[in-house]
Amino acid sequence: MDEGIKRVSVEEFKNIIGILTPSMDDFLYMYDLRKDRYCISPSAMERFMLPSTEFSRVPETIASFTHPDDVATLHEDLQQILNKEKDYRNIEYRWIGRDGKPVWINARGNVLYDENGEAEFVVGCINEIGKKQKADNVSGLLGESSLQSELKKQSQTNRMKGFILRLGIDNFKEINENKGMEYGDMILRKTAECIAAAILPDQKLYRVVADEFAVVDFSNRGAEDAHELYDAIRKQVDSFIEANCYEVFFTISAGILEFGDVQNQSYFNVMKLSEFSLNEAKNNGKNKHYIYNKPDYQAFLHKRELLHIIRHSVNENFRGFEAYYQPIVDIRENRLYSAETLLRFRTEALGMVSPVEFIPILEESGLIIPVGRWVLHQAMRACAQIQKEIPNFKMSVNLSYVQVLKSNVLKEILAGVKAYGLAPESIVIELTESGFFEANANFSNFCEGLRANGIPLALDDFGTGYSNFHYLYNLNPSTIKIDRSFTLKALNNDYEYNLLQHMADMTHSIDTKFCIEGIETKEELNKICNMGPDYIQGFYFSKPCPLGTFLDTMHKFI
Ligand code: C2E
Ligand code: MG
Ligand code: MG
Repeated sequence: MDEGIKRVSVEEFKNIIGILTPSMDDFLYMYDLRKDRYCISPSAMERFMLPSTEFSRVPETIASFTHPDDVATLHEDLQQILNKEKDYRNIEYRWIGRDGKPVWINARGNVLYDENGEAEFVVGCINEIGKKQKADNVSGLLGESSLQSELKKQSQTNRMKGFILRLGIDNFKEINENKGMEYGDMILRKTAECIAAAILPDQKLYRVVADEFAVVDFSNRGAEDAHELYDAIRKQVDSFIEANCYEVFFTISAGILEFGDVQNQSYFNVMKLSEFSLNEAKNNGKNKHYIYNKPDYQAFLHKRELLHIIRHSVNENFRGFEAYYQPIVDIRENRLYSAETLLRFRTEALGMVSPVEFIPILEESGLIIPVGRWVLHQAMRACAQIQKEIPNFKMSVNLSYVQVLKSNVLKEILAGVKAYGLAPESIVIELTESGFFEANANFSNFCEGLRANGIPLALDDFGTGYSNFHYLYNLNPSTIKIDRSFTLKALNNDYEYNLLQHMADMTHSIDTKFCIEGIETKEELNKICNMGPDYIQGFYFSKPCPLGTFLDTMHKFI
């Protein structure tokens, strides 16, 4: 062993630690095996769940802030040192961080022996294996931990002013996939250069993660200046793409956060909100900027909470979900024709939530697939029950495009029809028209499958969106349904009334039925009936209601 090191006393070593700590990120330690004492750099206290920087009963104490799965490894390592099986330790295991999360560390150290050859000290260094990079050699920029230090420094000395502009390359993965990682690295470097060329001398640029950068500005400038900077960066990037002979084409999105909005918040929160802002820009269609505002963020949190509640409900056998039924009246024959199944969701915390709010959440999360299947079964069971009294009764079920594109919903419909002993024409599938559907093969196959099996299709919300007559002709639905928003316009405006009249005539000319939704009063009913619709659905007849209420009241429509 090195004689020079051996002669340093414990007290002297503690002094050395004290001197070196401010200039290093790692943690120096000394373990006195004979006295069973351990001391470590004071900075380790901020990072790990240590009881103090100096302690005895070393194996048990270290075990107390070691991940339980790694305690055996730790004890084995210490035992090997005592048994003189090794004179250099180099192990990787997990300590528990101040935030309660495991942190991978690498503990290295020399074993020092006394004159009799007994192990006396272990002296060495602990470092975090997964520590964030200070600098990034791909882009040549400082990395996220440097950004963290800079923000910490600024927030300690000043009231925070200025902004953080978080930039992300749109679809960067595609560049890597199509052109290879090296080319991707080149694009990152060039993008960094483009940003660097656009920023002002007092603004700083960092690379945050893979394809994201952050510009920070601590001056009096605000969101509008950040927006201008973003435009300047886009110009630089466009020039690069042109100079690069359009070998790749890419765009950049930006999230803008003013430091005034996050005064006294932790670094973690600032980064979370800047990430939210960039995500909003990307969700809004990419190649865009988004300026953070609190109401949007609260809406985002609310949506996330609702998703959490919904997922929980789905896993608890759809607790809180209920199928409601609204009658659809055949106005020519003056009888109850069918009902539309409308999903309801009630939570203890939020009360009744509107489908307008929760259906998009179900669609985005894919939960519409299990929930839609559940609704389908409720609807079919209810239909079979109602048909005992009204044999020709039909039941409408709304289907989301997600169910059509991402699950084999046709198979489920056919299996259900069989299982509940229904005739195929008893179940009407309602789909909201959309331009997207027209071009999609899965969608065409689904509609073809419905037709081949005799299951009627109703086009919902007709007239509010895409409304292409050519498309209508191709789909050949059994019914088109007019949304209340259109109905209201037609009731209040002659031009819209005439338009709707033409749509009714055209629908009838291709042998399709015309259903008007949203009729609330007798006057509305009289006026709209002059148009010659086939079916009427609206609060005038009944609001959507639970099955029990529907069964109790359905006879009054016949
Ligand atoms: P939709 O399929 O067009 O359903 C008709 C909507 O109009 C229902 O709203 C119904 O309550 C409402 N309505 C009917 N008559 C009147 C009236 O006279 N006055 C007024 N003010 N409103 C009337 P609801 O139940 O809130 O559902 C909204 C939308 O949510 C539905 O529009 C449908 O697109 C979707 N939705 C509901 N249940 C399901 C479901 O099980 N699956 C899927 N994918 N979507 C569903
Ligand atoms: Mg509908
Ligand atoms: Mg509708």
